[in-house]
Amino acid sequence: MKIKEFILDLVFPKFCLGCKKEGVFLCQDCFSILEVLTTHQKFKGKNLNDLYFPVNYENFLVKKLIQNFKYPPLIKELKKDLALLIISHFLLLDKKPNFFDFVLVPIPLSKRKLKWRGFNQAEEIAKELSKFLKIPLISDCLIKIKETKDQVELSEEERKENVKNAFLVKNKEKISGKNILLVDDVFTTGATMEEAARVLKESGAKKIIGVVVAKASPGQDKLQ
Ligand SMILES: [Zn+2]
Repeated sequence: MKIKEFILDLVFPKFCLGCKKEGVFLCQDCFSILEVLTTHQKFKGKNLNDLYFPVNYENFLVKKLIQNFKYPPLIKELKKDLALLIISHFLLLDKKPNFFDFVLVPIPLSKRKLKWRGFNQAEEIAKELSKFLKIPLISDCLIKIKETKDQVELSEEERKENVKNAFLVKNKEKISGKNILLVDDVFTTGATMEEAARVLKESGAKKIIGVVVAKASPGQDKLQ
């Protein structure tokens, strides 16, 4: 982590990540020019029944937003914007999805990582989505029991291996028979979501639909 950047964020005034305008991390003008997708491409994974994402990670500002989202001073402000991108996407689709009988489950961090970072970015987005969609958030079922390497430097096969058996489901009764919106920030090869979906299904979950802020092509999720 770039400690210097982190400290600068704390000490210096806020600037828009897009246009450097002072006062906010993302100004309304820059938010409005983010290219929210108006179509949905049906996705079918092994355990994941579908996937929704409002923007592509290749967009310069999207990349910047998501990478900076991990710093505490930005999370408070940006979580709403990122959730709003997802909601805007749902509303822009010809066939608007209805998730009234779903529950939200965030991709968890390991205990150690959570302690170090102080929050789980996927859970922060899921909390906002829960308010917008008026469906429950369940964050005490899916837990991460294995320390994994950062996926960005790994190949597709290595990613699968890295997240294998990384998750466990507690309090199974809370998700058994439920349709789940599985929330994360970025989807690249889908290794993480697939593995989480696998254990959720084994624990009795019905349909599992992934929801992320952005979809990246493998190799393009590297930090810069
Ligand atoms: Zn701006």
